[in-house]
Amino acid sequence: MSRSNKRHLFNKVIENVTIAGVAAEGKAIARHNDMVIFVNYGAPGDVVDIQIKKTRRRHLEGEIIKFHKKSASRTEPFCEHFGICGGCKWQHLSYEEQLKYKQKQVTDSIERIGKVNYPFELIPILGSQQTQFYRNKLEYTFASRRWLTPDEIQGGEEISNLEALGYHIPGFYDKVLDIKKCWLQPEPSNHIRLGIKEFAIKNHIDFYDFRTKTGLLRNIIIRNNEKGEFMLILVLFSGEEEKRESILKYIQKSFPEVISVYYMLNDKQNSSIADLEPVHFAGTFYLTEEMEGLQFRIGPKSFYQTNSRQAYELYKIAREFARLTGKELVYDLYTGTGTIANFVARQARKVVGIEYIEEAVSHARENSRLNKLDNLVFAAGDMAKVLTPEFMEQHGKPDVIITDPPRAGMHPDVLKQIIASEAEKIVYVSCNPATQARDIEILSGSYKVKKVQAVDMFPHTQHVESVVLLEKI
Ligand code: SAH
Repeated sequence: MSRSNKRHLFNKVIENVTIAGVAAEGKAIARHNDMVIFVNYGAPGDVVDIQIKKTRRRHLEGEIIKFHKKSASRTEPFCEHFGICGGCKWQHLSYEEQLKYKQKQVTDSIERIGKVNYPFELIPILGSQQTQFYRNKLEYTFASRRWLTPDEIQGGEEISNLEALGYHIPGFYDKVLDIKKCWLQPEPSNHIRLGIKEFAIKNHIDFYDFRTKTGLLRNIIIRNNEKGEFMLILVLFSGEEEKRESILKYIQKSFPEVISVYYMLNDKQNSSIADLEPVHFAGTFYLTEEMEGLQFRIGPKSFYQTNSRQAYELYKIAREFARLTGKELVYDLYTGTGTIANFVARQARKVVGIEYIEEAVSHARENSRLNKLDNLVFAAGDMAKVLTPEFMEQHGKPDVIITDPPRAGMHPDVLKQIIASEAEKIVYVSCNPATQARDIEILSGSYKVKKVQAVDMFPHTQHVESVVLLEKI
């Protein structure tokens, strides 16, 4: 059915539909005649009435407006912000159920997109031991006028204290939900955020106004390590030095767990911090994370897997799949700050890490120095340009390739070079099973899937990590 002859369905209510499954993007799926309807917050097995909100060419999008039957896989969401905040959209599904869908997403991708129709070892998905307070980094936005919930608007009472320090409402860059308690980062994360908010209001330090594009305070980034030490990065407009100083001092003095304080000045319209220079204000320059006695330095802008404990499990699986004996030359593609490279270096002859962010590469080198490892080299640049026959001639052809690309997967030229490298094994770590499966298909003339294990790094979200071992045919 084309989009135009679906238009009459706009705002229509479709009654008594059964939620049939969960789509890769995390929405629930229902079917009506021959059409697919995507809805948020549905659980397979629910019987509901759906109001159609969008008509697309291939599908419809709707909202659940009434429940006739609630699915047995449902559970009570624990967070008061559930349903409005974009953060943990799967809280209404039991954790068991979440893992089931994540597992299915990985195996379906490998079989359907990867066209793997031969047997391989499927190791069951590894759930996260911590399903709450598992993140080590959060970013909040200051806003002079918070997003009001439908209840508040309908309540009709006069609403004061409009300032918000919280998360963007999904799809609205200029609307911010004030957060009271977030279940993602361990305490004192909430305590710090609420303290900062209170201090700013009391001292008349302005929150960012998205309409006039003024107001000193813009964002705050809170990072922590497993030891419970915190780093705070305040993003603000330039100017008003006294106020800047007073709030930074407040942060430094009020929270003993905060061992490092930075700020960044942002006079741009957008809130991206990628091009901002961190200025050290107080305390240590880094946080340090530890794994098996290895140390990793985390600066204000460093990439580090956001669920530290589960990252350790992920790296152990990747290392186990690689089965290193100490003789191998290993390439770690998309190495970031060299975490996996450092992690496997003691079991390898030599590790070559490649990554395009220069700053990350210098952190990777620093990490291996810190760990007194001398068998690692790092190269900076775009993978498709760095990984060439000449590069492999210079550094040696890899025995094992570990690769951990971003969501888009690998560039065709990179896949071509991987095939040309004739590496015995490829350990493919991915945060996007669909692009991973696409790449596996491209590699299928030379490599076969031997093992697959999904890992859940992000409970209550639709995201899943997948580790695949490929061996040369
Ligand atoms: N393996 C690391 C980081 C993985 S994230 C860890 O576990 O910590 C993916 C990394 O790929 C990021 O650091 C990103 O900067 C890098 N990257 C993305 N596209 C790239 C490209 N075209 N060439 C090289 N590196 C790239």
